[in-house]
Amino acid sequence: MSVLSTPSANIMDLTFLELQAQLAVWKEPRFRAQQLWKWIYVHLAADFEQMSNLPRALRDRLARHYRLDPLVPVDEAISEDLLTHKVLFRLPDGQSVESVMMEYDRRRTVCVSSQVGCPVGCGFCATGQSGYVRDLGAAEIIAQPLHFARELKHRDEVLTNIVVMGMGEPLMNYEAVWQAVETWNDHRGLNVGARKITLSTAGYVPGIRRLSAEELQVGLAVSLHAAEDGLRNQLVPLNRAYPLSELLTACREYTTLTGRRITIEYALIDGVNDSVAEALRLADLLRGLLCHVNLIPLNPTTGGSYRPSPRARVHAFQQALMERHIETTVRLRRGIDIQAGCGQLRQRHQEGQDGHLPPTSA
Ligand code: SAH
Ligand code: SF4
Repeated sequence: MSVLSTPSANIMDLTFLELQAQLAVWKEPRFRAQQLWKWIYVHLAADFEQMSNLPRALRDRLARHYRLDPLVPVDEAISEDLLTHKVLFRLPDGQSVESVMMEYDRRRTVCVSSQVGCPVGCGFCATGQSGYVRDLGAAEIIAQPLHFARELKHRDEVLTNIVVMGMGEPLMNYEAVWQAVETWNDHRGLNVGARKITLSTAGYVPGIRRLSAEELQVGLAVSLHAAEDGLRNQLVPLNRAYPLSELLTACREYTTLTGRRITIEYALIDGVNDSVAEALRLADLLRGLLCHVNLIPLNPTTGGSYRPSPRARVHAFQQALMERHIETTVRLRRGIDIQAGCGQLRQRHQEGQDGHLPPTSA
């Protein structure tokens, strides 16, 4: 509650109860909290001025004390097929993060960042290569899908899914990410079902344990990328702290406690983790686990030496898993023309490559 009267505080950092408390301090009637919440999360207001059923004095007071939206879009890119839309946001301290909206049939999914950079440092990932700067605050996470929800509203469409699979390791910024999940899910506001929200982790075991105990059942994706510790230590350095046996134990506990299927993410890297032998090891590792494997052809990053696996090897890897009754799909590589891979737009900006994006077909 210490943020309540800081002039640069973010209103979205407040939970509904904290908002009620703030308005009570200002001697506003109780129903105001719900009105304000609705302006932010249902009407998706862009400023306090728009909130026409709030008294002028309250609107002015809010504007003096709070920022409505901590994100300023500073760049964007739209894929040629118009189905992937990526935005780079500037944060109040000058840092930046990316979010992407992907359209598929009726699904409108926003991929959200949880940290500026990432402490895990995977070598194949643009975010991992850029180092770790800081955690995002709740408002900075909450506001990302709202930006796209506003855009969708103009077309009479709604946001359907949120995946926390952008920059950063969400389970290492648990408090803020969880506050965001609860806010997105709140039925008085954006009302995105818990089952439509997915958190992706590189395998931060304490976070998986904590998630297993939550009442709200969001989806969990675990980025495995290797089926033996030696290789995984290289690809996902967090494996040195939480090796596969511990990670898989936590995954099994999660499925037992929640009854929910885990998505296993596996990026296929040419000549590194894409052999049939590795697929068989993966099948052994996952035997009996309630899961679904998503094979992702690697998105090459600038400066990285890893390459995507050729199509034939992706197919052979998938076949090997399916023959062992592991449900497996190959995720479409979308938005590659707009650097839609995790952290790639920001990386491009930091490198100052010609300073602007290529023309889009929008
Ligand atoms: N830190 C979390 C969530 C963000 S990364 C995690 O690692 O799960 C989201 C997903 O993108 C992860 O599965 C990650 O392994 C994958 N990823 C990162 N860089 C990639 C690349 N260059 N090509 C394909 N997938 C990549
Ligand atoms: Fe971090 Fe995930 Fe990228 Fe690894 S893949 S560096 S955990 S964001």
